[in-house]
Amino acid sequence: AAVIVAIDGPSGTGKSSTSKAVAAQLGLSYLDTGAQYRAITWWMLNNGIDVQNPAEIATAASKPVIVSGTDPSAPTITVDGEDASGPIRSQEVTSKVSAVSAVPEVRALITELQRSIAREAERGIVVEGRDIGTTVLPDADIKIFLTASPEARAARRSGELKGSDLAATREALVKRDAADSGRKTSPLAKAADAVEVDTTDLTLAQVIECVVTLVGE
Ligand code: C5P
Repeated sequence: AAVIVAIDGPSGTGKSSTSKAVAAQLGLSYLDTGAQYRAITWWMLNNGIDVQNPAEIATAASKPVIVSGTDPSAPTITVDGEDASGPIRSQEVTSKVSAVSAVPEVRALITELQRSIAREAERGIVVEGRDIGTTVLPDADIKIFLTASPEARAARRSGELKGSDLAATREALVKRDAADSGRKTSPLAKAADAVEVDTTDLTLAQVIECVVTLVGE
């Protein structure tokens, strides 16, 4: 039967790299749910929606068509047919995504989309996000919650974004996690039956091996 793996945690814990590698090793599909929230945020910004106005966001939420490609070696995301994989990583989107993803109408639509993608994955899927084990796929076969110290997370992010300063990166990360953890609808949270893996002192290869072992058990 298809195996469903839920990987949650804050940013900078190695979630995306781990999830892609685990899916590739096990021959499973892969879904980056953060990319979907980033894509809807990018569309809102491009279409003159006031992202501080939840009612305006809610009304517009069903307009963009977001399509995710689930091959772990080449994941894709399009909005109304346009490749969004570059622009969704901009600082502008990163700083606004928590406000958009907190709107219940946005979460309801994206959650439905995520469930239908998971249902269609014939061999199974690795789904990474913030609320996968708690809300999106509570019946997942295996749930992992990745953590790391704020210092380690900021250092990893700064490494990705060349030249950016560590203190500012850390501050932005902590702020986004606080917003994601504090919202009313399906906040960033560890499911009661999730296995927590602290990646602070682990290499990426070690985290991947740990998760592959957990899935195999
Ligand atoms: O994982 P990533 O950092 O790309 O996620 C971007 C944002 O999308 C998060 O900060 C959060 O606001 C939102 N998100 C969410 N629920 C998920 C995945 C991401 O609210 N399952």
